[in-house]
Amino acid sequence: MDDKVSKKEGMRTTAVHAGEPRPPIDDAIVMPLYQSATYKLGEPDSFDDIRYIRLNNTPNQRSVTAKLAALENAEAAVVTPSGTAAVSMALLTNLRPGEHILAHTGVYGGTRKILDDMAERHGILVSYTKIESRDDLEEARREETRVVLVESMTNPILDIVPLDEVAAFCKDHGLVSMIDNTFATPVNLRPIELGFDLVIHSASKYLNGHSDVVAGVVAGSKKKIETLRHRLNLLGICLDPHSCFLLQRGLKTLPVRVPVQNAGATLIARMLREHPKVQRVYYPGLPNDPNHERAKRFLSGFGAMVTFIPRGGPEISERVMQGLSLAQIAPSLGGIETLVCRPVTTSHAGLGPEALAESGVTADMIRLSVGIEDPEDLAADMLRALEA
Ligand SMILES: *Cc1c(COP(=O)(O)O)cnc(C)c1O
Repeated sequence: MDDKVSKKEGMRTTAVHAGEPRPPIDDAIVMPLYQSATYKLGEPDSFDDIRYIRLNNTPNQRSVTAKLAALENAEAAVVTPSGTAAVSMALLTNLRPGEHILAHTGVYGGTRKILDDMAERHGILVSYTKIESRDDLEEARREETRVVLVESMTNPILDIVPLDEVAAFCKDHGLVSMIDNTFATPVNLRPIELGFDLVIHSASKYLNGHSDVVAGVVAGSKKKIETLRHRLNLLGICLDPHSCFLLQRGLKTLPVRVPVQNAGATLIARMLREHPKVQRVYYPGLPNDPNHERAKRFLSGFGAMVTFIPRGGPEISERVMQGLSLAQIAPSLGGIETLVCRPVTTSHAGLGPEALAESGVTADMIRLSVGIEDPEDLAADMLRALEA
């Protein structure tokens, strides 16, 4: 699991210790919660050195961002009040009116909405492309292209693009490469090591992991993150100390949770693949999955999202979900509890038929986010629901 971590220290050690104050404050074993909006004025070099929550430089913000940067093997990171804010601010900071972004066709539904809005209101040129190889990028690149945006695994069909080729293409053309790593987490993929410039997360998902915080992250070079932090300060975007504190607590168990979730998802994906009432399973850990070879090349774990289509159409899919007693029907993912939803009613609601087709989403598709429950119990629950 840890063979792709280039540092000497293992990821579990990083998750527990990185960013924690040493020596500890008042001998506290845990970074205390500083519920203080402002701090005594020292001798600030600049306005951004004044410590104030909105300036993204108070103790809980600094501590959690240091841990996040260490986990992603990046120089620096910022936190935002949602994953959506992380996506929109990473984009707005790196694109001006008249400039062009190339986004993978499979990007998250919410991200598509942001991009379409940026095109309409800010004059940013947006195009979507499939990325099967570098040739697709070369073909789609324009004079005005500045940014390429991909995801570690697409939602919900778990497509994986040739990530190394995306990073190399951007380096060669002086473009900013961005990746939303929410689905893989740094446990399964560390894009900075592949050459990506900016790594984005919805920390509301695996990073916090307990479905009780909404937050986002952008990690990258000191220079890029400092530029981004100035934009956040300017526009008044900050994560409050209590959410930072909770996120920091969640992060400590990330490298313990994710491998357990990976294993649970593998067991359930195999069970579903064998089941006569299941038409199709999408899981990059299955040897016959079209993304399996890429998954093996880039990932150190196959993730905890399993998407499948029961036989019989959307009503049957809905009935299978209703028949589950452990997994609950809810949007979102990545927490310790197993959740199911139909993407057409959640993450992809409101997208037109064309965008749905491009994302590979169908009305009978069920997306399962596997938690940390005993996988045998989850599998038994699923079998009952499929056979009812
Ligand atoms: C959930 C999600 C987001 C948006 O994050 P929020 O924290 O809900 O704002 C962005 N990208 C991906 C891949 C997501 O799953």
